[in-house]
Order: sequence, then C-alpha cells, then structure tokens
Amino acid sequence: MVNGRPLTGASGAGGEVGHPPFGTPGQRCPCGAAACWDLEVDGRALARHLADEAPDDPYDYAQSVLDRAERGDPDAAAAVARVAAALARGTAGLANLHDPDIVTLDGLAIPLRAAATDAFDTAYTAGLMTFHRDRPPRVIDAAHRDHGALSGAAAVGLDHLTSEAALADWHDLHAREGGS
Ligand SMILES: [Zn+2]
Repeated sequence: MVNGRPLTGASGAGGEVGHPPFGTPGQRCPCGAAACWDLEVDGRALARHLADEAPDDPYDYAQSVLDRAERGDPDAAAAVARVAAALARGTAGLANLHDPDIVTLDGLAIPLRAAATDAFDTAYTAGLMTFHRDRPPRVIDAAHRDHGALSGAAAVGLDHLTSEAALADWHDLHAREGGS
C-alpha cells in the first residue's frame, strides 16, 4: 500500500508475496514456480519438519500443530519455530526490498508468529539490512485478520458505487432514461 492505495502491478498480480524464491531450491510450488516462500510458511512445511505426509488441508493441519505446540509437544513447538523463522526471514527480505513503514500479517502468519515470537524476532532482525535495525519496520497483525481481502473488496465496491463519478454516471443514466 502506498498513500493508502494498493500497488497491484502491471497485470493485477502485484503483492503475491508468497512466491518469491525464498524457499528450498528445486521444490515445486503449485503456482508453477520453484522454491516459493509459501512452501516454507504453512502446514506443508510443518508436515515436512515433523516427517508427516503432505496434508490434504495445510491450514487445518497447521492449526492442529499449533494446538500441539501450545499443549507442550516439543516436536510441534520446534516445527512451529522453524516455520516462524522462515516467515520472518522472508518478511525481512520484503522489508529490505520495499522499505515499508509497517508490515501487516494475516492468515496463518498471525498464530505462527504468536506461538514463536523469539524465533520470529531473531530471524527478522538478522534478515534486515543494518541500517533498518535501529528502526525496523513494525510488524503488526492485520486488523481484519483472515477477512482482509473480503472486507477490502466490499469497501472498494462501495467506494465505486458511491464515488462522485459513479453518482454522476447514475444521475446521467437516469436523466437519459427519463428523457427517452
Ligand atoms: Zn509459488
């Protein structure tokens, strides 16, 4: 976001932050690219670290591992810490690239960081260029959490319908229909 507006890129796919090659070389992502960061920061990564089979539902699997970690399972906690560190390394990489004021996390990133804050903070600081470390870009949980995209789409729709230009179009349309 720059000055309150999303930068959506040349083809509308800007902000696909899950797919820079911050992951393991050679590992193929469903998006078609190799070594995507996405593969390191969700339930698939947790399953690899725990030597489990690839889960059908990585999100639910991740929730179950987070629950196990919270209950004191050391293997689950270690896997969560590894994934939180991978999340933080990529976040630092993106912070080095974009020099943002604030980084927001949503989805699974929120509970992963919360469950392993030391691992996250250590890897985040280590991944930042030195000049960022005095005032590192603040990492916060997104206000709308998992519903950010949906809330944003609804807000854009409402803005579109209630903008001065949209209201003028609506007025013109009715004027034309009234005159025909
Ligand atoms: Zn990918």
